[in-house]
Amino acid sequence: MARPMLRRENPHPEQMQAFRISCADCYGYCCTALCFFKTDGFPMDKPAETPCRNLEPDFRCRVHDQLSSRGWKGCRAYDCLGAGQAAARLYRKDWREAPGTASEQFTVFLTLCRLRQIGWHLVEALQLLPAKPLWAALEAQLAENQRLAGQPAGALIGLDLSAHQAQVNPLLKQAAALTMQAAGGGKRCADGIGKRFRGELSGMDFSLALLIAANFSGCTFYGINLLGADLREADFSDSDLRGAFFLTQGQLNAAKGNRNTRLPEGLSHPSHWD
Ligand code: SF4
Ligand code: SF4
Repeated sequence: MARPMLRRENPHPEQMQAFRISCADCYGYCCTALCFFKTDGFPMDKPAETPCRNLEPDFRCRVHDQLSSRGWKGCRAYDCLGAGQAAARLYRKDWREAPGTASEQFTVFLTLCRLRQIGWHLVEALQLLPAKPLWAALEAQLAENQRLAGQPAGALIGLDLSAHQAQVNPLLKQAAALTMQAAGGGKRCADGIGKRFRGELSGMDFSLALLIAANFSGCTFYGINLLGADLREADFSDSDLRGAFFLTQGQLNAAKGNRNTRLPEGLSHPSHWD
């Protein structure tokens, strides 16, 4: 018997373009504003609001083509969902030309990152057919998300997103529960480090799960919640992820796969998979 469809066509295709990173139109915010640590896939620790030693004066990365071989896997995985170029558009001068605005620019970037992440998950939830009873509320929160993100830089500094997040989180949770239920499951798996999974996975809840180096090769995903799961080095070679939801490009970039891996709409094969 055919399984029920879990996704509809994306009602907000125009959003997908905005979520695509455009590093050439950005002032290297991720390489400067963020801190990183050896434990997260970097060869060194770096404090926040400090330029990486590999950041060129024109904001290009000196080791862009050798990130993996030089141990910068964390950079390879990072995806700001378009927050970088959105922040740069708000300033006429970059933080090097106008150092007095540097800290402010980084704060705006971080706020936009959070808004983009929330927006990505809202657009995703709006594609889930079992979440239909929630679509109106999700649309309202997406509109609010766009309103907040569209404010001038001055309003984004110090913007408290807790109220928005408090409205969105329960909706995403309900959308996930309805979708996993429709897939016949809801079984929780919080720890799958290094574990071998096989065959068809239905309705499983991997939200926030540790799935580092898990082996999903050849698996088919149906109604699988991957919200915030740690997928570093997880292997999705020859697997079909089209039935997974709340998966981001950053999670995929940190994982392994190949050109046979099938992805949900809006996500693309990381270049290092080839
Ligand atoms: S912040 Fe985003 S757009 Fe800017 S360099 Fe980093 S990934 Fe690229
Ligand atoms: S190694 Fe390159 S991509 Fe990574 S933080 Fe440094 S400049 Fe940015």
